[in-house]
Amino acid sequence: MAITGVGTKTGRHRVVIIGSGFGGLFAAKELKDADVDVTLISRTTHHLFQPLLYQVATGILSEGEIAPATREVLRRQKNLDVLLGDVYEIDLAARTVTSRALDLTTVTPYDSLIVAAGASTSYFGNDQYALDAPGLKTVDDALELRGRILGAFEMANLATDPEEIRRLMTFVVVGAGPTGVEMAGQIAELARTTLRRDFKRIDTTQARVLLLDGQSGVLTSFGPKVSAQAAEQLARLGIEVWLNTLVTSVDERGIAVRDSSGRVDRIDANVVVWAAGVRASSLAAKIAVQAGVETDRAGRIPVNPDVTVAGHPEVFVVGDMMSLDRLPGVSQVAMQQGRYAARTIKRRLAGGEPLPPFHYVDKGSMATISRFSAVGDIGPLQFGGLRFAGFVAWLLWLGVHIFYLVGFKNRVSTLLHWAVTFLGRGRPQRTITHQQAVGRAALKHLDIPYLGVPGRPAPERADAEPSSGRTPAEALPAGVS
Ligand SMILES: Cc1cc2nc3c(=O)[nH]c(=O)nc-3n(C[C@H](O)[C@H](O)[C@H](O)COP(=O)(O)OP(=O)(O)OC[C@H]3O[C@@H](n4cnc5c(N)ncnc54)[C@H](O)[C@@H]3O)c2cc1C
Repeated sequence: MAITGVGTKTGRHRVVIIGSGFGGLFAAKELKDADVDVTLISRTTHHLFQPLLYQVATGILSEGEIAPATREVLRRQKNLDVLLGDVYEIDLAARTVTSRALDLTTVTPYDSLIVAAGASTSYFGNDQYALDAPGLKTVDDALELRGRILGAFEMANLATDPEEIRRLMTFVVVGAGPTGVEMAGQIAELARTTLRRDFKRIDTTQARVLLLDGQSGVLTSFGPKVSAQAAEQLARLGIEVWLNTLVTSVDERGIAVRDSSGRVDRIDANVVVWAAGVRASSLAAKIAVQAGVETDRAGRIPVNPDVTVAGHPEVFVVGDMMSLDRLPGVSQVAMQQGRYAARTIKRRLAGGEPLPPFHYVDKGSMATISRFSAVGDIGPLQFGGLRFAGFVAWLLWLGVHIFYLVGFKNRVSTLLHWAVTFLGRGRPQRTITHQQAVGRAALKHLDIPYLGVPGRPAPERADAEPSSGRTPAEALPAGVS
């Protein structure tokens, strides 16, 4: 195993950023003209726009459209170097970050560190579910789910036993937060419209789509009115919503659930999607131990009001892996904190007064359920923000997502694919490969750690909390009994 050290020859202040997601990318961009040397280390070569992953999973967009190469996005940034690597050690005393890519280990020293490693799917202590119920956190997840979903119709078309056909065309989504609602809506549209005329032996419109949640409503983080509107839209799409329902087991032929009265049901299904919860990157715990602080139940590290770690003003933790003032686990928090951390570093180097504490500007949240229909709110509701549903909300959703997608080319081709999907009802990205469809099973068979959950050290079991919304602390078990 080769070990290389990465230093800078300029003698300038060295900023290391971990992660190329929202927090990492926005921190890097903010440092564009700063008199510093920036090294961005990430385990993926792309910047992933997670909010549109469900569209990759259901054949609307290609992975390239939502995951441009980080190196290309930051190409013009002369003071920045991008390194591929899975960071597994941060030494706060020595001020070094150690990462690995295949058999190459790299040690990178820093003067300032911005950690934005995000979160991964949480099965709340039941990591074995991951094999049969993929989450939706990575490009791998989305492509594997696409393979499983489209593959299920292919297998149903070959099967002769009516029971087996029914099982193959049953899709279960666990977790009725925004991701679960969007995923269920798109699977239903795929079955009822896109695939309707493509199969001769099966009637894809008869596919069953179930959306389960441990709470008593869908999209509960959006408030009761939006939640009721979303429930109506889901019913119109023929999606069965099972509330107050806990998953008790998952296997390759389906799942078992228990309702609030204690009744246990078995749902035979070929595809189970886990959209029930997330857990902060394990790097949060590694930093917490050295800083003498405790992570919360979702594995997040508490940070100071200036997003630094206790006793380490040179270490910033931003986005999904930190906890501060009950901020939600959404992209806007990560982007704003990434920028804030970078500005703080610049301010310090300029010898200026410290910035005021981090203040989150809530721009609202949105979810689409089917074409031409979405729900959402704009601006902090406590200050008179607005709630939308239906077509107007959908137009807003369209505008916001195009605005935040990275890269002009991606915006143009995404708009084109949306036109094909929403006007023509087609799906431009229906390619599936055998390797994608069996991806995680093959990795497990070979005992190779999957960059999701299994094979990694099992997180301690999180206590039950509501599952809707995207805050790790809020996220929970639609899930788990
Ligand atoms: C399916 C889905 C839909 C969503 N929809 C919305 C939405 O509609 N609106 C919204 O505001 N938010 C949404 N979110 C949440 C939003 O995407 C996150 O809050 C946001 O991505 C957090 O940014 P981050 O920078 O903290 O982490 P991420 O964006 O997750 O980035 C983490 C980065 O760190 C890298 N990394 C992780 N571990 C390591 C390691 N050990 N070494 C090196 N690199 C590492 C990863 O490869 C990645 O580049 C959604 C999330 C998901 C999963």
